[in-house]
Amino acid sequence: MQNTNPHAVLLASPGMGHFIPVVELGKRLAIHHGFDVTIFVVAADASITKSPLFKLPQTPNPLNLMLLPPVDISALVDLTTSVVTQLVIMMREALPLLRAAISAMKSQPTALIVDLFGTEALATAEEFDMLKYVFITSTAWFLAVTVHFPHIDEEAEHKHRVMKRPLDIPGCRSIRYEDTLDRFLDPTDRNLNSSFTRVGMEISNADGILVNTWQDLEPLTLLALENEKFLGRVVKGLVYPVGPLVRPAGRSSKSEVIDWLDMQPMESVIYISFGSGGTLSVKQTSELAWGLELSQHRFIWVVRPPVDDDVSANFFNVTNSHDGTPSYLPDGFYTRIQNRGMVVPMWAPQTEILAHQSIGGFFSHCGWNSALESMVNGVPMVAWPLYAEQQMNAAMLAEELEVAVRPKIRPNNGVIGREEVAEMVRRVMELKGNEMRDKAKELQRSANQVLMQGGSSYNSLSRVSKECELKLH
Ligand code: UDP
Repeated sequence: MQNTNPHAVLLASPGMGHFIPVVELGKRLAIHHGFDVTIFVVAADASITKSPLFKLPQTPNPLNLMLLPPVDISALVDLTTSVVTQLVIMMREALPLLRAAISAMKSQPTALIVDLFGTEALATAEEFDMLKYVFITSTAWFLAVTVHFPHIDEEAEHKHRVMKRPLDIPGCRSIRYEDTLDRFLDPTDRNLNSSFTRVGMEISNADGILVNTWQDLEPLTLLALENEKFLGRVVKGLVYPVGPLVRPAGRSSKSEVIDWLDMQPMESVIYISFGSGGTLSVKQTSELAWGLELSQHRFIWVVRPPVDDDVSANFFNVTNSHDGTPSYLPDGFYTRIQNRGMVVPMWAPQTEILAHQSIGGFFSHCGWNSALESMVNGVPMVAWPLYAEQQMNAAMLAEELEVAVRPKIRPNNGVIGREEVAEMVRRVMELKGNEMRDKAKELQRSANQVLMQGGSSYNSLSRVSKECELKLH
């Protein structure tokens, strides 16, 4: 049977940070660009299907979301294997399921769009004569490092890893040693190195690369990715900035947090969250709590029990304070922060919070979705990166875009004390914060424009749509 619309199959790898932007891309393709869309999700377990995010809106064209049966990789990896390698293996194990699902489709789909960890599936796209795209759910700068990675010679690697010099990326801003990718400095992790090299090559061979950024945010890097003199020589397909694709704030469901925010003055509250899974050590959690107290500013903090290798998790279920403060927070914390602060366990409605007029700052681990959500709401940040490419994101937010402040040392490489925490909160929420807020508001305006009809990100997706239509007919 011949399709009338192009049909895009999207593949999301495990983790909310991948799932959310892939779903947003699917929605835009179906709502604004005439695609039929099927999104396949690989997850560590089936609980994701219970998330409200799994329910999609009605769209003019079919938009379906399906969970591929979770795959158990526990027999294939040991505990020391990096998350990147684990994700790559999980996606590899899910491939036969994806292949079977595509071959069972009544009509031939036009394109396969995978995220960073799904690039092995591009071979399946070739097999079914589909166009093959990669969707980078991070920055163009991160894409630049990834496609350059297979071409880094020993000398450059030695200079960066051993001599601690910046890593040069052709045509782009160099990466300082302190800001380099998580685990990148570990030359002994051969699995990670070979996974990342392979991923870099597979991305370079895709028909096109979609990136969750926009033209005005990273003009030089995007130029370097197109230019034959720089990275354009290694990237076969075109690079399409299609962002910022973020989950819109839905104000329908009232929550305790939003009710509390409704009562606070304009731009007076700092929101603290470390993404879908980020945790701090026991000591760092305590210093952060003291720092928030010291700052005297209003806050909402999404708190997870800290993770220390040498402390039993059971310890954290204990409250040893008369006011219900958990044992890992300073004694009496809940009493002292009453009316001024709110602690939310585990998960909060982040996009609704960041869109609220009472929010004046975001203390964030700099996952790229969180960073985008902050920028589209014009909110300046305390950049507190934890892992993956977050240190690069923090560098870009603080030094290039000037919408964030950063701690003096890399979090995870030591404990950042309460005084520094308080000082960073004050810088964002008080005077210096105004300059960063103005810059963040400028980005908010440009972010709003690019996704409107005729805007640069809208046009990028129109070009992808044209390619797919040509393939269809
Ligand atoms: N998120 C949320 N509530 C939370 C924590 C996270 O809604 O309490 C959402 C957040 O809005 C973002 C995503 O989860 O869209 C996290 O993605 P990000 O790239 O920021 O970080 P990751 O979780 O991948 O480290």
